[in-house]
Amino acid sequence: MDLTIPQADIERKARARRFAETVLFPQEVALELNGRLPDATKAMLKQAVIDHGLNAINQAKEHGGQGLSIFQQTLVNEELGKATGALWAVAWHPAIPLRLGTKEQIRDYLVPSCQGRRRGAFAISESGAGSDPRRVQTRADRRRGRYYLTGEKWYVTSGDVADYLIVHAHVDGDPDKPTLFLVDKVLPGVRVKRTPKFMHTYVFEHPEFVFENVELDESKMLGKVGQGFDLTKDWFVEARLQIAANCLGASIRAAEIANAHATERVQFDRPIRDFQAIEFMLADMAVEIMAAKSMVYRVAWEIDHGLDRKLVHARASAVKLYSSEMAGRTIDKALQILGGRGYMRENPVERLYRDIRVDRIWEGTSEIQRAIIGGQIKKRGLGPYVDWA
Ligand SMILES: Cc1cc2nc3c(=O)[nH]c(=O)nc-3n(C[C@H](O)[C@H](O)[C@H](O)COP(=O)(O)OP(=O)(O)OC[C@H]3O[C@@H](n4cnc5c(N)ncnc54)[C@H](O)[C@@H]3O)c2cc1C
Repeated sequence: MDLTIPQADIERKARARRFAETVLFPQEVALELNGRLPDATKAMLKQAVIDHGLNAINQAKEHGGQGLSIFQQTLVNEELGKATGALWAVAWHPAIPLRLGTKEQIRDYLVPSCQGRRRGAFAISESGAGSDPRRVQTRADRRRGRYYLTGEKWYVTSGDVADYLIVHAHVDGDPDKPTLFLVDKVLPGVRVKRTPKFMHTYVFEHPEFVFENVELDESKMLGKVGQGFDLTKDWFVEARLQIAANCLGASIRAAEIANAHATERVQFDRPIRDFQAIEFMLADMAVEIMAAKSMVYRVAWEIDHGLDRKLVHARASAVKLYSSEMAGRTIDKALQILGGRGYMRENPVERLYRDIRVDRIWEGTSEIQRAIIGGQIKKRGLGPYVDWA
């Protein structure tokens, strides 16, 4: 059994780390204090993403992406996840279902999205539909060969910088016909209703959108009527692994800061790391990070090596659940070790503490991940989790 990471991948990870440290970290405090970055800075970051070859790492080279394997993406996402203010989001990942689009959709949406000329955002959630997307009320009514979209979407991440949305709607209001539509934001009837603020500082926004009888022709349907869930399944796997890798990076950064502080900080005439209470927290953090890293790397590697799709889903849930909850525990301890300094917004650990809370909510809450894992155990036994093969 060879667990060695190829040298080229180690170097790629080191490059991603340098990008995070030299391009993203310098923006963190201004972003935190002002709540947003100036447009010129956002443009600079966008160009830097391209210059560093970090655009569309999840898409094939033939479409303008970087063609990285899932494992390679994981290494990059771990490093970018160290940045606060969700600055990792400046490196765009065009949605996986676009790959399954028609030739024209690939030309008009996927390729320019990989190149940074367009950007999409995914809109499934609504006021009444979160964990249970069958409750979606957004409908696409078919009349004379065209579709008319009506409804509202919440929490559309990066919806402010997107120029099109991938909207999950029910054709003719039928929950058995969940379907994806490519909706250009400039179309008549599309508008932003509200742009709420959230616990984390996020480099972009999560606006709410309203669709009022937006006219779409058949060419804007991604996949077929009723394929909405099938098309998003693989996207969820990728997004869950990305979250897990980001959480890993965030935890490592917090642990490194706490570890350095524990050596430097003297109280009662000794470095605080000499108190067993502090030393034990560091030990627990290190072990939890090691466990999460082992899971994340393993499942990413398995996907690249053709793991059965059902097992991929089963394990991606476990990886997302454990890594996001591990990050909560680890960063909380790091903050505690830093004392009052850890509570200051100028400290990355304070920001990471808020940033990673959403990772237990989006892309399936912790409860939904547990329900998926519990369902898998019921169906297949403990094998997918406790057997190695
Ligand atoms: C910052 C942010 C960004 C987001 N970005 C996007 C985006 O880009 N696109 C998008 O479509 N959505 C997005 N979301 C929405 C996100 O995916 C949902 O918030 C999430 O799926 C949970 O849905 P909900 O908030 O409606 O909670 P609910 O589904 O109402 O759940 C409330 C509580 O009940 C629990 N619960 C629900 N069902 C069950 C069950 N069966 N068993 C046990 N417990 C259950 C949940 O775990 C949770 O604790 C975003 C959310 C946030 C906060």
